[in-house]
Formats: sequence, structure tokens, C-alpha cells
Amino acid sequence: MKLRCWVCCLISGAVALLLLAMMAGTSSAADKIDVLIIDGQNNHDFERTTPYLKQILEQTGRFRTYVATTPPQGNTDPNAWKGFRPQFADYDVVLSNYNGATWPEHVRTAFEEFVKNGGGVMNVHAANNPFPDWPAWNDMIGLAWRNKDGGDRVAYDGSGRRIRTPKGEGPDSGHGAQHPYTVIVRDREHPITKGMPVEWLHPKDELYHAQRGPALNMNILATAFSSKESGGTGFDEPMVWWIPSGKGRIVTSLLGHVGRDQDPSTWAMRCAGFQAIVTRGTEWAATGEVTIPLPTAMPTYDKVSLLP
Ligand code: ZN
Repeated sequence: MKLRCWVCCLISGAVALLLLAMMAGTSSAADKIDVLIIDGQNNHDFERTTPYLKQILEQTGRFRTYVATTPPQGNTDPNAWKGFRPQFADYDVVLSNYNGATWPEHVRTAFEEFVKNGGGVMNVHAANNPFPDWPAWNDMIGLAWRNKDGGDRVAYDGSGRRIRTPKGEGPDSGHGAQHPYTVIVRDREHPITKGMPVEWLHPKDELYHAQRGPALNMNILATAFSSKESGGTGFDEPMVWWIPSGKGRIVTSLLGHVGRDQDPSTWAMRCAGFQAIVTRGTEWAATGEVTIPLPTAMPTYDKVSLLP
């Protein structure tokens, strides 16, 4: 009798433990953030960078990633576009690795609804280039790659003062020669950048300048100095910023150029700082919080840090 009791106890204990483990398993799966990466057209190597971005996100253990791919560049057949119907509401956040033709109207409307209802957006590098003819998009991202008639420009002068150049004045969007440059954290309290060195060295990359747009409600997290010697503007240009839109948050990072056929050992996406911005930016856009720690090997003011 005593023995049977003891066995019962053991079995029910084991069952309870198993149930607990299952519940824990369920809750950690439910805690994962669902990210939809959009690609399909880009003047950059999205065929190789989308899997790399997936890997960067997934290795944090915080995300489940999915990919929606548009028809290829130049395909204007409406039937081909019929298959591109991302169910945005099924995801917490959209990461755009897309720079191409404007999406069909129903996709644009669905995307606007998604953001209005609290969906997050993380734009990577050339993702701020497309859609000049989509006003809601320009409002959501604030600054885009446009000529000088595409909107105002925002930058910082030598004394750290924020300047605003009106539409039609000053340079078009562009970039000088690629080179390593220092990223300056302008907001050290924001969850995405909190704990980063004030200045950290980013490896050879494009440094976009004079981005243009409505630039309303801009929260600039980081800038970089665009030197005249490199073909830039002589101003500190916004590199990472976010904008509130409806209940949603849109984060844009201009870092991370990867050209077609570029040797992966030279990808700017390997920068630990770039990866911190993408992972923490995606998490923050989705939830308003950051739990992903900074990489142990963050770059410092004079040393780049490249991850595998
Ligand atoms: Zn580029």
C-alpha cells in the first residue's frame, strides 16, 4: 500500500512537471514576435540579405520570421501581383528589405490599416527609397530617398543644432564614396540605443545624405557625419530614427548596403551595431520594449566589430 502511494506520488509529480514544461513551452512560443520580411525587388542583393536578416533575427530567440516576395522587377502583369497579398494582421511587425515598384492599392491600404492598428515597421537601408507616389508611406517613414522637390531635409550642423532645409532648396538625396564612419547616438535613453557607446565605428558602408520627406514627428536616434571629402554634405545626417503613426511605430535605419555579388566578408550588415539596431529596432517596433541585449562585441569609437 505504502509502495503504491509512493509510486502514485511519483507519477502524479511527473505528470505535473510535464504539464508545467508544456505550459512553459507554449508560453515561450506565444511570446515570440512574428516578423514578416518583405522583399522581391531591390537594387541591392535581397536574395542573399533576406536569409541573412532572418538569421540575425532568429538567433536572438525572440522572433519567428516569414517572407513575402513580390513579383520580380519589371513585372507589371496585374495577375502576377494578385498573388502578393500579405496578411499583415497575422504579424507583429514588418521588416522591409524592399525597394521596387509601388504595391497594388489593396496592399497599400492593408499596410496602412496594419500600422494604424499598432503594427510595427522596420525599414532597412534602401527600404526608404520606393513609393514616392504613396503619401501615407512618406508620412510614415518621414525621410526618403528623393530629389530636393520630394520634401524637407533634416540634418545637424557642426554645433549639433538641428537644421531643416525646405523642399526645393539644397541637395538632392544621395551618398558619397563608401567608407567606414562613426555612428553618433543622439538619443541614449531610447530602448533601441540605450547602453550603446555614444560613438561607434561602422565598417565601410554607404552614408545616405539629404533624405527628403514630410519629416514630421521625427525621433532621431543616431546620425553620422557626411564629410565633403567623401562626397557628402558636411552635415551630420540622420541614420536611425522612428516615427509614431496611428498606434504603430516605424523605425528606419539607413545602414546596411549590400551590393549584388559583394563578397560577404565585406558586408556592412556584419557590423554588430547594425545587427543591434535591426534586432532591437524590430522588437521595439513590435512591442514598444527591448529585451534583446546589446552584443558583447559592440563596436567602439575606434574599432569596428564584425559578426559572422
Ligand atoms: Zn545601398
